[in-house]
Amino acid sequence: MQRTLIFETVNKISENVIINGWVAKVRNHGGISFMDIRDRSGIIQCVCMERNIEVNTENVVEIAGIIKKRPEKMVNPKISTGSVELEIKKIKILTKSLELPFPIDTDGYELDEEQRLKYRYVDIRRQRLSRNLRIRSQVTTYIRNFLTERDFVEIETPMLTKTTPEGARDFIVPSRLQKGKFYALPQSPQQYKQLLMVAGIEKYFQIVRCFRDEDPRADRAYGEFTQLDLEMSFVTQEDILQLIEKLFTSMVLKIFPGKKISQSPWPRIPHKEAISSYGTDKPDLRKNKNDKDELAFAWIIGFPLFMKQTKDDYFHGSGRAKFAPSHHMFTAPHPEDIHLLDKDPLNVRGLQHDLVLNGYEVGGGSIRIHDPKIQEKVFDLIGFSQNQKEQFKHILTAFKFGVPPHGGIAPGIDRLLMVLLGEPNLREVIAFPMTSSGQTAVMDAPSFATNNQLEELGIKIQDTEIITDLYDRIVSLLKEKKVVFHVLDHEVVHTSKQAAIVRGTKLSEGAKALILFADGREIMVVIPADLKLNMAKLKKYLNAGDVRLAKAVEVKKITGIEIGAVPPYGKLFNLPLYIDKRLFENNNIVYNAGLHTKSIKMKANDFKITASGVLGDFAKSEND
Ligand code: ASP
Repeated sequence: MQRTLIFETVNKISENVIINGWVAKVRNHGGISFMDIRDRSGIIQCVCMERNIEVNTENVVEIAGIIKKRPEKMVNPKISTGSVELEIKKIKILTKSLELPFPIDTDGYELDEEQRLKYRYVDIRRQRLSRNLRIRSQVTTYIRNFLTERDFVEIETPMLTKTTPEGARDFIVPSRLQKGKFYALPQSPQQYKQLLMVAGIEKYFQIVRCFRDEDPRADRAYGEFTQLDLEMSFVTQEDILQLIEKLFTSMVLKIFPGKKISQSPWPRIPHKEAISSYGTDKPDLRKNKNDKDELAFAWIIGFPLFMKQTKDDYFHGSGRAKFAPSHHMFTAPHPEDIHLLDKDPLNVRGLQHDLVLNGYEVGGGSIRIHDPKIQEKVFDLIGFSQNQKEQFKHILTAFKFGVPPHGGIAPGIDRLLMVLLGEPNLREVIAFPMTSSGQTAVMDAPSFATNNQLEELGIKIQDTEIITDLYDRIVSLLKEKKVVFHVLDHEVVHTSKQAAIVRGTKLSEGAKALILFADGREIMVVIPADLKLNMAKLKKYLNAGDVRLAKAVEVKKITGIEIGAVPPYGKLFNLPLYIDKRLFENNNIVYNAGLHTKSIKMKANDFKITASGVLGDFAKSEND
């Protein structure tokens, strides 16, 4: 029988169905079991009249049963399937779940964010978050349809590229093939979209990830964000404003029917007036700021082309010039003001347009420079050296091959959704956001590269400032995870036995880290020091043909340190980690912390939680 989605059950009264999902709640009383089952479409109450069913919340189940209409007074108006229930005939537990790290039946704002991000896949089961992601998908689908119906072409542009300055620091990626050189992740596809205009595409868009290494701010995601990037040829600023206004107005009407747009057409406010009347270039124009359904869009136009350059201006603050572009360096000056470029640059207006919503800047764009001479002039005014100009030579060259006048905009999808969904934070509308300090959700990035990786890239980490010393790295990892630990200083030891003696600890407490090659792949296996590696079991577990211990020189090459000092944290070396379960028969574990003279002692359980290894049976005793 085919699976029935939970929301369809209301139309299947008296029918036999099979549903799949997660157990949201279980109540066993006196031989009757009630449970709520959740799938992507909703939640339904299931009952078993004959017996208690042993099943835990968040287990994944398949239930076969019959849909029954609930008696009038038992109807639950709070859920869409409240008029029915499923009488369980057969229940199969497909997989079990550990107890969740936090509840998911609340809106989650009250929870520790670090925990939420660590278990983001659990957090997303929360109705609010999964709804946000579904709405996000509806919004991007709407945008795609709207634009492609109007002759726009969605084109992907490179991620490994050269700097495209949008006023932030670049993320750079080292090249292995050309050692010493780096790619930059795009701060936006600005130059590519302009090149696509030279290429005759005329109407381009892309829902695209942009990368900016900026210091975190409340309304700015650190690191990466998504924008609707758009560019058109043969247009005026008016055309761009109208298109976006129509797109977002119709999108709001369709996807957020409860929202009201306070003013249509959206007000257009000259930059000067915004500053003098509201003291900001992103005024909150809502009539009632307590009304969570009010949307006050506005355009800010007539920006000055330049601002005074300051030291904080990451905008290639070369120190040589007084000006920084107020948008970016491809924005065209107002035609009436071109003559002021030489005499009075600060009084030149730019053809820039910013989109503001409820006090947030949700997008910016401009009509671009298409005259190479003016582009060069702007480069000069922002203080580009010959060398810096060289970096943008391609665009000046391209403009010599017949460039159409063009312009565009790039609304930020995350920020737009944050406002539309009434969320206090960008992270609530992103599936796997970073913390404000740039730590990724679920996976622990950034992480250290292995010595091998660095060598291949021709990179040497300097000891100054950056913590490269392994001992410091372990300590910072433990502190970050708030683990209590003791440092033992002792005489030089090379083996686990010597170590146990000088530390005065049990041999079985020693966490012995072994480096192996499994079919050529480097891995780490940690076993209690009183046991031996069980190669046969490990091989079987890994399903590998060839598993061998790394030689001393290989250990040195992989970890940068010598056998005998390797700590059991595989992640410090980017190695997958396998831990023998018997290590946890101890309350404490102890290990050499990157040095022959320093050990760390800590709770075995803290190691289990912080090491992220696979637990298994990988050791044997001498007598086995
Ligand atoms: N590239 C600009 C940005 O990312 C937008 C634009 O001018 O179209 O902010």
